[in-house]
Amino acid sequence: MISNPLETVRDVVDTSPAVADSVAYTTCYMCACRCGIKVHLKDGRLRYIEGNKNHPVNKGVLCAKGSAGIMQHYSPARLTKPLKRVGPRGSGEFQEIEWEEALSTAAEWLGDVRKTDPRKLAFFTGRDQSQSLTGWWASQFGTPNHAAHGGFCSVNMAAAGLYTIGGSFWEFGEPDWEHTEYFMMFGVAEDHDSNPIKMGLGKIKTRGAKFVSVNPVKTGYSAIADEWVGIRPGTDGLFVMALMHELLKARRVDLDYLVRYTNAPWLVIQDPGAADHGLFARDADGNPLCFDKKAGTLANAMAADVVPALVGDHTLADGRSAVPAFQLLHDRYTADAYAPDAVAERCGLEADRIRRIAAELAHAAFEKEVVIDQPWTDWAGRRHEKMIGRPVAMHAMRGISAHSNGFHTCRALHLLQLLLGSIDAPGGFRYKPPFPRPVPPPLKPAGKADQITPGKPMGGPPLGFPTSPADLLVEEDGTPRRIDKAYSWDAPVAAHGLMHMVIQNAWAADPYPIDVLFMYMANMSWNSTMNSSGTMKMLTDTDPETGAYKIPKLIYSDAYASEMVAYADLVLPDTTYLERWDCISLLDRPICDADGAADSIRQPVVKPDRDVRPFQDVLIEIGVRLGLPGLSNDDGSPKYPGGYPDYLANHERAPGVGPLAGYRGADGSKEGKGEPNPDQLQRYIDNQCFWRHEFAPSERYFKHANKEYLEKAVALGLIGAANPIIHQIYSEPLQTFRLAAEGHGDVVPPEHHRERVRTYFDPLPFWYAPFEGEMLGEELDSFPMHAITQRPAAMYHSWGSMNAWLRQIHGLNKLYMSRQRATELGIGEDDWVHVTSHHGRIKAQVQLMEGVNPDTVWTWNAIGKRKGTWGLDPKAPEATRGFLLNHLISELLPPKGGGYRYANADPVTGQAAWYDLRVRIERAEADSLGAEAEPRFDPLPGPPGGRRGPGLLRYGKEAAE
Ligand code: SF4
Repeated sequence: MISNPLETVRDVVDTSPAVADSVAYTTCYMCACRCGIKVHLKDGRLRYIEGNKNHPVNKGVLCAKGSAGIMQHYSPARLTKPLKRVGPRGSGEFQEIEWEEALSTAAEWLGDVRKTDPRKLAFFTGRDQSQSLTGWWASQFGTPNHAAHGGFCSVNMAAAGLYTIGGSFWEFGEPDWEHTEYFMMFGVAEDHDSNPIKMGLGKIKTRGAKFVSVNPVKTGYSAIADEWVGIRPGTDGLFVMALMHELLKARRVDLDYLVRYTNAPWLVIQDPGAADHGLFARDADGNPLCFDKKAGTLANAMAADVVPALVGDHTLADGRSAVPAFQLLHDRYTADAYAPDAVAERCGLEADRIRRIAAELAHAAFEKEVVIDQPWTDWAGRRHEKMIGRPVAMHAMRGISAHSNGFHTCRALHLLQLLLGSIDAPGGFRYKPPFPRPVPPPLKPAGKADQITPGKPMGGPPLGFPTSPADLLVEEDGTPRRIDKAYSWDAPVAAHGLMHMVIQNAWAADPYPIDVLFMYMANMSWNSTMNSSGTMKMLTDTDPETGAYKIPKLIYSDAYASEMVAYADLVLPDTTYLERWDCISLLDRPICDADGAADSIRQPVVKPDRDVRPFQDVLIEIGVRLGLPGLSNDDGSPKYPGGYPDYLANHERAPGVGPLAGYRGADGSKEGKGEPNPDQLQRYIDNQCFWRHEFAPSERYFKHANKEYLEKAVALGLIGAANPIIHQIYSEPLQTFRLAAEGHGDVVPPEHHRERVRTYFDPLPFWYAPFEGEMLGEELDSFPMHAITQRPAAMYHSWGSMNAWLRQIHGLNKLYMSRQRATELGIGEDDWVHVTSHHGRIKAQVQLMEGVNPDTVWTWNAIGKRKGTWGLDPKAPEATRGFLLNHLISELLPPKGGGYRYANADPVTGQAAWYDLRVRIERAEADSLGAEAEPRFDPLPGPPGGRRGPGLLRYGKEAAE
């Protein structure tokens, strides 16, 4: 047939085919942010993921990670069946077993421990989102040896906030994006509070508010900052204290705010050598005293009608001297040591720049005052016609906290905001419920000798907030009672535990040996540990006499074939986040915002196609088999026969308080507190998997002192009593530890801890050089550079390494360094270099850039992989050219006098000091094996049943056919 060249051929193209036949709402788990998502499915398979525009966290915004959840779910790295180790530990040789054998093995190992000495179980989890269950489970089991990953993440930030303002950043609070005029962000933040910060930065950039980023590296959010402050790592505290110096010298501080809402006027006893030196002077009822200028006498500082003095030397009834806490603060930070000229060089900044930023902060706070025409009532019943605020907001996360001086730096950052009067004021930092909480929260850690009985639950939670040495978990001789040494003299305020020390301490049987190490979602043989190479050796080390492993039994649960799997004796395969129930609970780390309380759930949107089970169901099942009283009835039957969803709806932590706060009560009409509702989960599903209670406009600011808010918080079960929450610029709990180090009280530190405790438990923040640099002493010149990691916006730690789409963004990492410094060292683009610390040496490939502090090198976190893991081809770039800095970091500091080695951590909280690392960089030749990163390890075989990723993993091909 001859075709007509003039004929118009109409091609019918369906431009909008029905790609899905159903939609399910749930909560993203591709990072820690917990955005609401709509999952589109066709024939039961995932087709695409969309942001839920009604969700309070992300309001429809979805990031690259969130949309790539499909490839997380279909990843070849997924574990497929329970595994029992059959080769030597670390060899990766496993045999597939049935769940019954896996569960009975776990119950047998754990049952033996529980009957004899429950502390011989160390149960630690990574960045899981069910910590209210796992912590409670540990308590039911009876072991204090439990924590999640907070100790190696940002506990300095959390603890400093909770001991100062009763809240902190991220899940604890957020900038007032609508009103702030000046926003300062410190350190790495891209992986925490991801979408909300992106949305917030968009708002302030649109409004023209100034955004200043303080970070040694100009990447991520720093790249869009109006001003980038490329500070030297570990000196943020010095910079912040210099800002305070300038504000105090210029008298540009909000004295009214300090008087109303902080302990600045409280009188501090000045009697060196006395057992109460440095504590607050109190009346017979225990109320703190101030000097009332109106009455000209001492008075109860909590009385509503006093006019307290902020300075002066005052005489107590017993004749001793006392000064307001503000006086001490003022004296400290106006000292020359914190003048911009004194700190500038050390910070790598110019003194004039520090002065200018201080002036800009003061200008924004005091010349751009925000006035909201909204009456409110304070805690004393006084009505205020307007809400008046200081529009300076701040945010910080791991960048400033992962140093050995991080606790005091983080506290200093809160003091700076308090001096400016911006905490929970319009335009400033705003609390997210359940914060603010009393400073610090009243929960104490359990684990004392009389709280642990074989076969019984422990008399309290494993984690809490000590306020004096009497709360420590130590033996009579001062040795730690926990395997991670949390709440001991090594790390008294270890609010999140010291997960990074568990393997080291268990291996060394210091302070005692354990029997079972049980871990979940924690890649502790690779990127979640310091000294990765040494940790692998500890996990496989044996007793030379018996041949038994020094850590006898290791149970591990994960959804993916991570590096840690090879070191387990028993592997419990978890589901992906799209295959299970979950709960983002107010008892844990909720999804609230400053204007409302909220929580959410995950529901299974697809069924597992492998023999895997949700970890939370498995934990509950093991609990039933162990006969834990909270999970099993007297006859041994399960209290929650429906597993985790049954627990979510019906468990009560206290009368009327359960994992979910929404739709409580028999008919679902109660919020916060109320009896269990059998239809609760369906009500969440009907509401797109979240619940939110919006606060009235009069409840939204000054929450620490807002009567209506405080009463609402009590009604919702967020706090116990509607008392004002007083910000603690001067921390009395820290002073109690210092007094103990001077020999006062019943619980005092052993001699070798005393100097350290006395030095670092200063009730006012101070700056000291990070430990690694200091302890290198004369060797420091050999390690002139700082080495840190940054978090890519497109991956959450190692969570994206098995994801075919995200690997296209970050398939390998390089060592980024300043072009100028590299030239001085004779290093060019793409050269291979040796990076050497006092602890080890690695080889990596260099990429040059301008936007980095010249004394700092950095790389992306957790991109480098061990060959044979994560379902990747052994020749994958992550396994050949990707690398970790972890091999360079020692988990212990060099020995002090007497040979004792402290953790490489903050001395107050025990937070891992990842970013203290000092290195030298030397050009290397690519060796005979080709251009590969070092160190190299034998490839792992991958678990049986585990699939290797094809060279090209494509999605959607079958749907298009
Ligand atoms: S920010 Fe995190 S939780 Fe939100 S969509 Fe991205 S990966 Fe998911």
